[in-house]
Amino acid sequence: MKILHNTDLQPFNTFNINSIAAEIFVIESMDDFENNLKFPLKNIKIWGGGSNILLTQPQSDTILKIETKGKNILQENDNEAIVKVAAGENWHQFVLWSLENKLYGLENLSLIPGTVGACPIQNIGAYGVEVKSVIENVEAIDLETGKTLTFANQDCEFGYRDSIFKSKYKGKYLITSVIFKLSKKPNIKIGYGDVQKILAENGISNPTPSDVSNAIISIRQSKLPDPKEVGNAGSFFKNPIIPIDLFDNLKQKFDNIPSYPIDNESIKIPAGWIIEKCGWKGFRESNFGVHPNQALVLVNYGGASGKSIHHLAQKIQSDCYEKMGIKLEMEVNVW
Ligand code: FAD
Ligand code: NAP
Repeated sequence: MKILHNTDLQPFNTFNINSIAAEIFVIESMDDFENNLKFPLKNIKIWGGGSNILLTQPQSDTILKIETKGKNILQENDNEAIVKVAAGENWHQFVLWSLENKLYGLENLSLIPGTVGACPIQNIGAYGVEVKSVIENVEAIDLETGKTLTFANQDCEFGYRDSIFKSKYKGKYLITSVIFKLSKKPNIKIGYGDVQKILAENGISNPTPSDVSNAIISIRQSKLPDPKEVGNAGSFFKNPIIPIDLFDNLKQKFDNIPSYPIDNESIKIPAGWIIEKCGWKGFRESNFGVHPNQALVLVNYGGASGKSIHHLAQKIQSDCYEKMGIKLEMEVNVW
């Protein structure tokens, strides 16, 4: 285990925010979890790829930066394979590895930044697929006792960009590995957004999972700012799920309000549309602002402080509430 002191976290977070960490433990092997950490672990924060974090102050807690590696097929038959992946593996590299090995189910989640260990935390999702659909088990260490536990899929209480690790057990467990059940039979899902359109433009009428992955990679590259160029953490807010009554009221005012039904009582509204309607799309104040093409993404144009971005997020929240009666919830972890 490497130990770093008084280290700038800027290279480790996709918002590119400068912030000093008093102490970082870089965890590179299972042996580090088992032998080098002393339990109970108190005043710590777990760090994956830093793609869902906004730093607003120097970090006095010890940071456990998870860099463990390993992808193993535990079992397989003609139809599926059970794959165990270490928490520190890069998510997108794992998606590409699954496609190379003709194991399917992850293709719609291509090019999401971050690590495998973080994927269950907010049940990452994109283009009509959530990771909960392929997670079999999550292995984790209790930070209080050091005991290893296995959570079955249903124990993780996965919800929309949510899980037990983000709610009831927030900060209680360190995820060491995720076990996936991947299919050997493609199940193509292209009913979302521009995926079908891009495939058609490329003359693909019968897409393979790799075709779907490539189409999604190209859409994401064209729509989202690259954190290497413009700091960001993807969607800053969750898409709100609102009661039908509120939706009916809004519909009278905004005839073209986009919506996706959840059940008989609630409906999902794209937060990006709300923020745009409230006039924030493209807003810029010195070196930070709201992305001009995607209002859901707050950006650091270089050298902005996390506090100023957080302050902007709070202003957007209260303005959208005042104008539309909708409370936007932050998806990004503000530390
Ligand atoms: P971090 O940012 O390092 O941490 C996030 C949270 O997880 C923290 O609370 C941290 O403590 C906890 N955590 C991390 N690793 C562990 C572990 N091993 N054990 C316990 N807790 C842990 N998200 C989506 O859902 N869909 C998208 O399509 C999407 N697109 C994005 C696009 C861009 C350009 C960016 C910058 C972000 C996007 N995100 C998306 C958000 C982000 O990529 C995901 O939330 C990702 O899973 C975060 O992984 P990470 O390793 O960077 O986690
Ligand atoms: P988009 O296609 O412009 O759509 C805007 C929103 O409408 C999305 O957030 C999506 O909700 C919802 N939506 C669109 N089509 C839908 C459908 N057929 N059924 C249900 N909901 C639908 O979105 P985008 O911003 O370009 O992002 C594309 C995908 O990548 C989305 O799934 C988005 O969540 C994901 N993404 C996530 C992040 C992040 O940081 N969390 C960042 C970038 C992209 P959902 O978000 O529920 O899908």
